[in-house]
Amino acid sequence: MADCIFCMIAKKEIPSNIVYEDDRIICFHDLEPQAPVHVLIIPKKHIASLDEVEEDDEELLGYLMTKVKKIAEDLELENGYRLVNNCGEDGMQTVKHLHFHLLGKRKLTWPPG
Ligand code: 5GP
Ligand code: ZN
Repeated sequence: MADCIFCMIAKKEIPSNIVYEDDRIICFHDLEPQAPVHVLIIPKKHIASLDEVEEDDEELLGYLMTKVKKIAEDLELENGYRLVNNCGEDGMQTVKHLHFHLLGKRKLTWPPG
């Protein structure tokens, strides 16, 4: 999608610090990290939010989930981590391209604010 910042990152039209990439997903460091490790995992396909996922996306999102463990391993999150999706206005989603925050390397509090 034209003026979507994460589509631009996926297409390398704007720079990011990439952790993992293949033909379907890309993972890069968050610009404003909230933990010592804070990366974003996104499908390269533009999906606006978790609430816009369609049946056709089942395989893609299943695929993304199977890569979380590998990315966490690469980032040495052997002590655990948190995967977060903010959806919509009340979920405080700011970038309208589906993304999962992967946070770790500190003890995370619960519940989130
Ligand atoms: P949300 O609030 O939508 O769940 O998360 C959006 C995240 O994207 C935020 O944590 C924010 O710091 C990050 N972010 C926004 N713009 C950019 C950018 O241009 N590059 C990177 N790497 N992260 C960004
Ligand atoms: Zn997009």
